[in-house]
Amino acid sequence: MSKLNGAFAADMPEKKLKSLEKILSYADTNISGSLDRLFQLLRIPSVSCDPHYADQCQEAARWLSDELENIGFASSVRETIGHPVVVAHHKNSGGPHVLFYGHYDVQPIDPLDEWEADPFDPQLRVQSSGETHIVARGASDDKGQLLTFIEACRAWKAVTGSLPISVSMFFEGEEESGSPSMDAFLDQAGAELSADIMLLCDTYLWNDAVPAVTVMFRGLLEEEIEITCANRDLHSGAYGNAARNPIQVLAEVIASLRGPKGEVAIAGFYDDVKEPGRELKAELDKLHFDTETFLNNVGLSQSAGDQTYSVLEQVWTRPSCEINGIAGGYYGDGLKTIVPSKATAKISFRLVDGQDPDLIRAKFHEHIRTRMPSDCAVKFTELGGSKASVIPCDSKYLRRARAALKDEWGCDSVLIGSGGSIPIVSVMQSKLSINSLPIGFARSDNRHHSPNEKYDLSSFKKGIRSWIRILAELSADEGNYGYLKPHPQV
Ligand SMILES: [Zn+2]
Repeated sequence: MSKLNGAFAADMPEKKLKSLEKILSYADTNISGSLDRLFQLLRIPSVSCDPHYADQCQEAARWLSDELENIGFASSVRETIGHPVVVAHHKNSGGPHVLFYGHYDVQPIDPLDEWEADPFDPQLRVQSSGETHIVARGASDDKGQLLTFIEACRAWKAVTGSLPISVSMFFEGEEESGSPSMDAFLDQAGAELSADIMLLCDTYLWNDAVPAVTVMFRGLLEEEIEITCANRDLHSGAYGNAARNPIQVLAEVIASLRGPKGEVAIAGFYDDVKEPGRELKAELDKLHFDTETFLNNVGLSQSAGDQTYSVLEQVWTRPSCEINGIAGGYYGDGLKTIVPSKATAKISFRLVDGQDPDLIRAKFHEHIRTRMPSDCAVKFTELGGSKASVIPCDSKYLRRARAALKDEWGCDSVLIGSGGSIPIVSVMQSKLSINSLPIGFARSDNRHHSPNEKYDLSSFKKGIRSWIRILAELSADEGNYGYLKPHPQV
């Protein structure tokens, strides 16, 4: 869409409109250069979890830093205890200061035989539908997505000689392997990343035609429990009945975690849950979520959750408790007639706004401990915990970004939640008090982490155009679209 007929354009002085048109058309006419650069980045096999690719992670960081320098950022590659990060700044005197976050690392490529071509030899594939896919590992997660922002900045610089607001960028190389260096890096260099708002695009469109801002991410709490009864596996003929069976005990305590309606039955579990505000509820109602297709797609027909809540609420705004795995006793071939001594389970909770992971952990421990019969010991292993993140619906940055998206897509964007988490969002909120605006252009069929990962060429193009407009919108103080003022260069 090249027409400027949305909310922002309506208020915009004629001269500035023309300039925005020029920037958008620069991005369109130079798309092959943008694609060339994306292909260069995709050719670097920056797999973070495999130490064999450490040099390639360095190479990807260096590539990004060089590109940012080319468009006028003061950029550097910073070493961490793991893979390096890239930090870059382009300061400006006016407007808010935004920090853009992305990750240059990718997932491993196995199973390699399921790829139709070399995962690190990116291809443009025209589909029978007429759509074009960019196919490569990282095409969508996250190299294609992060480059939409860099290319938007490039277009701004090429046409106006500057950026409309102060922009910093922060790229890590360990997102796909749990970001082990992030805490230490932020403790040491966090102040340099302070900004009014963090932008990121590691998220999805609502559908092919409707953009989305993800405003809620659930937190995550993980635990392992080990229940021990006798001091060794016992002969079930000799001890059957007399010895407590830890698998039986485990099954009973696991069963006690949910009540008859599917609700989590730990005392006080919902005490601090904050219901979404009226405004957000109204936004969610507008989505007309197709529950049936959602369940049918995975071979299900009926939600097992608390029916007081819609399925969308169950997966976005309500906390959950899931048994991820259980183990114990003998499960080899044939039969071994024992009363085992030990049973274990991995259990995780998705948390929502208001819930404190440490408090929930304590309540969970209490729930299990008080249910332990005689001669049973329970050991807990804490496997990590993070709070939910919620982006305030009344944020002026959110309002401006949505106005820009409307101009580009010709329809209202939607506010959505995510049942999962993007850890950087909660880390930046808790460590640096920076809220995020997660706006991504990936489609749900992009095959993240799977063979033949792809990014739609249309996502790449419209992603660049959307960021161009978002930068313009964010630069506008109320009623004063300041981005055409001459700005000092870095
Ligand atoms: Zn990923």
